[in-house]
Amino acid sequence: ENLPADTITENSRRQVFDACFSYVNPKSTAKPEILHVSPEMLNEIGLDHEDSKREDFLNVFTGNKILKNTKPYAMCYGGHQFGHWTGQLGDGRAINLTEVEHNNNRWVLQLKGAGETPYSRSADGLAVLRSSIREYLCSEAMHHLGVPTTRALSLALTGDQVLRDVMYDGNPAYEKGAVVCRVSPSFLRFGNYEIFASRQDVETLKTLVDFTIHQHFSFLGKPSKETYIKFFKEVAKRTLNMIIHWQRVGFVHGVMNTDNMSILGLTIDYGPYGWLEGFDFGWTPNTTDREHKRYRFGNQPNMGLWNLYQLANALYPLIEEAAPLETILNQYKTDFDKESLKMMRSKLGLQKEEALDKLLIQDLEDVLHVSETDMTIFFRCLSEFDEHESDKWFHIVKEAFYTLEEITGDIKKQWQEWFSRYANRLQVESISNQERKHFMNGVNPKYVLRNYMAQLAIDAANKNDFTMIDELFQLLKKPYDEQPKYQKWFAKRPDWARHKIGCSM
Ligand code: AMP
Ligand code: MG
Ligand code: MG
Repeated sequence: ENLPADTITENSRRQVFDACFSYVNPKSTAKPEILHVSPEMLNEIGLDHEDSKREDFLNVFTGNKILKNTKPYAMCYGGHQFGHWTGQLGDGRAINLTEVEHNNNRWVLQLKGAGETPYSRSADGLAVLRSSIREYLCSEAMHHLGVPTTRALSLALTGDQVLRDVMYDGNPAYEKGAVVCRVSPSFLRFGNYEIFASRQDVETLKTLVDFTIHQHFSFLGKPSKETYIKFFKEVAKRTLNMIIHWQRVGFVHGVMNTDNMSILGLTIDYGPYGWLEGFDFGWTPNTTDREHKRYRFGNQPNMGLWNLYQLANALYPLIEEAAPLETILNQYKTDFDKESLKMMRSKLGLQKEEALDKLLIQDLEDVLHVSETDMTIFFRCLSEFDEHESDKWFHIVKEAFYTLEEITGDIKKQWQEWFSRYANRLQVESISNQERKHFMNGVNPKYVLRNYMAQLAIDAANKNDFTMIDELFQLLKKPYDEQPKYQKWFAKRPDWARHKIGCSM
């Protein structure tokens, strides 16, 4: 009722042609209740704590009120899912409310789980509390880890029940409905460009690319072939940078389909993501990808490249020259080697560059796979290592081993050897151990959102106890700080959580 009179909204499922988005209103919710608000994000959009307590805030961010002079919309996009083109997807349950300009930043506010859109296909447009808690906590945690990401403003219950068939016993069951307000300078994905290229709708493709450059990449210049090439180069650079950060903190996205790749190089769409416990290049949290493990930890950089090939194909009609695009794609590979070496050096506290560093790092990665070794704990403890007392290595990192009994015989020898090489390598450094420790602890987080931690918060929330959401939120604001009062979260995954993983739908 608050919509401008000229707004037409229509949410019937359909193929949408010649348009980048469709106007659509969020679904009203039965008994909305805000569970958590991010004070940092609130501040970013120019609101304060008092504002977040107002009736209007509750109504706007749960879909019950539309701000005056705004026209909510859902975007049209396609995507390559698990390697195959799947045609039109689009915002099936996300609705962009409006944009806010504050402190020279522009933010799009988007409700996820706000009801059907033309792009909902066979699904209901809703989100459950479980997946909403996971997105809300993880996206803010990633921001505080220094990983490029979309943000979250609020987490709310809708008061509606949502039917899902992925409960642990395999039977359909009702779950609490929820809505997250996500925030980002843009939610455009590679798939937004691919859809128009696949339909040979070069006109709309050009409109969208020119809009993107004007809004987000204006420093590249006015639209032209050269600018489109620079645009692709910038997207490739940002994508690589984001993935290097994922590798640094042990984040596995789980669904790197091209519809989940942000054009701004931000981590987007927190679904079945997971955090490495044991360091394992072969691990994926996504149960639907257990066979091919396309999106496993060690394959994320390659998948970023694969996705960039799809984007290059989509942009090609505007550039009509393959060579510059190929150069950029080749550069990604070279840069990946360079940047990942740089990142791993920083995790080991190496500031100088030595020829044998690459080998030292590869051998560490090998030995980390030999027995289950907690990635976060290992690198955090490593900063305590003293090259003059290399015999104490076991004492320093033992907390990271899942099965202490395994660290005997040849395995122990392998570790011993690696640590003595590391000790020798540290002799080359000129900074003090104290300085090195400080530097390493700024790169290797002490606290990440382990899968079981999110699960504990979800289990409590399903029983109407929301305190753990706030506890984890507070903890993850300072992932690099010692935070002694939260020491219990600096611990390996407990045994009961061994094969459990979060679910996305
Ligand atoms: P995802 O794999 O979560 O990135 O989603 C792929 C596509 O499915 C996107 O178009 C989503 O908007 C859509 N989608 C996922 N869940 C739902 C849902 N519950 N209702 C409607 N569309 C959905
Ligand atoms: Mg998605
Ligand atoms: Mg999703």
